[in-house]
Amino acid sequence: MVDGVLQVSEDTKQRRAYVTQFMEEHIYPNEPLLMKHSDESEALVKELQKINKANGYWAPHLPKEAGGMGIGFLTYAYMNEIIGRSLVASRPFGSQAPDSGNAEILHQFGSPEIKERFLKPLVAGDVRSCFSMTEPAVSGADPTGLQTTAVREGDEWVINGRKWFSSGAYGAAFAIVMCVTDPDAPAHSRMSQIVVPTDTPGFKIERRVEVWGEEDSNHPVIHYDNVRVPVTNILGPQGAGFRLSQKRLGPGRIHHCMRALGQASRAFDLMCQRALTREAFGGPLADKQTIQNWIADGLTNIQAARLLTMQAAQKIDSGDEARVEVSMIKFFVVNVACKVIDDAIQVHGAKGVTTDTPLQAMYKSARILRIADGPDEVHRMVVARHALRKYRQGGTWDFGEF
Ligand SMILES: Cc1cc2nc3c(=O)[nH]c(=O)nc-3n(C[C@H](O)[C@H](O)[C@H](O)COP(=O)(O)OP(=O)(O)OC[C@H]3O[C@@H](n4cnc5c(N)ncnc54)[C@H](O)[C@@H]3O)c2cc1C
Repeated sequence: MVDGVLQVSEDTKQRRAYVTQFMEEHIYPNEPLLMKHSDESEALVKELQKINKANGYWAPHLPKEAGGMGIGFLTYAYMNEIIGRSLVASRPFGSQAPDSGNAEILHQFGSPEIKERFLKPLVAGDVRSCFSMTEPAVSGADPTGLQTTAVREGDEWVINGRKWFSSGAYGAAFAIVMCVTDPDAPAHSRMSQIVVPTDTPGFKIERRVEVWGEEDSNHPVIHYDNVRVPVTNILGPQGAGFRLSQKRLGPGRIHHCMRALGQASRAFDLMCQRALTREAFGGPLADKQTIQNWIADGLTNIQAARLLTMQAAQKIDSGDEARVEVSMIKFFVVNVACKVIDDAIQVHGAKGVTTDTPLQAMYKSARILRIADGPDEVHRMVVARHALRKYRQGGTWDFGEF
């Protein structure tokens, strides 16, 4: 039997059991340490990575020829919804953002030389990377207006511009940078993606940007100041930057949704456990109708979100880009996660906003996902446009079609 939206194969059940045990043994007990950046937590990550590599649980998002598990998108989704229960579990499995999406794009569009120099050490976990697209001066939701340029001079690209929210830039060995290479071409053929090693002269981290006021945030402003890289550092054909973005961001968005499912189900567990043990007004919170409504809605919405996510993953496995499905889950699943985590915080009362539970960090992370990788409104727009196109052409949406 192979995995399907409503069926999980024996192999996948075993993989899920492995991940569950790993989480219980190594991740949950060490979460407070792993949430803080320190030499000690870095050493622990390396140790945990060794265990997963030795057991064949490394880079589950990648095909075998790229150094991954080669299990496909749907099976990865069934694993990743468990890995996603903790915000710090992806790195021990070698599947953390943005490296996971960057590895996929390097594998699909990098030349043999690029793969050797950048993909190999990235997949091995020896280096980290960032994806440098969003700019402070113009709308990230509508990237057709991006301004960073790459001008060809001889055998080099000369890159100039300012980016921000290149997550993971501190400590990254290279950035994949979205640049205007063909300013006079139609809007979706103006840009290219170019690999820039971060030690290239002119790559300047200008300032830290504190997300949720956190001092160790890693989403800084980068000034590309006459950065010169070989012309061969381009990914795919010149002018294909948008097409590559679609290839990168589609799967990347599903990765985010898988993790959001994990966050929602963990928050749901915490909400139910607290509701059963905390008493007020003569009985447990679990006896109050309002709390029961949150539990019923949460369970129903999580299950609906899982089905949608698995369906999108299955469609990607079949070779379809699943544009509508990816946009559907990007706003639906993330909003389900935000609501369940918010309800779980409410059930915990004051404790819910402290670091005595993981809920506050989970909420901040889920809330970010309503903006990052395209805001909710843009994904709703994509879904509505696809639906309306059918009706404009005199047809209807085929609800029997997946
Ligand atoms: C923590 C974090 C990490 C990130 N990591 C990365 C990264 O690694 N690399 C990277 O390149 N970028 C990254 N981003 C940037 C992210 O992708 C952008 O913030 C996002 O695309 C929105 O762009 P913007 O912030 O410029 O908002 P804007 O484009 O200015 O949009 C602002 C708001 O306008 C509204 N809006 C926009 N379009 C429409 C519409 N059509 N209809 C209705 N309303 C609309 C939405 O409410 C939207 O939130 C990250 C962002 C965050 C917060």
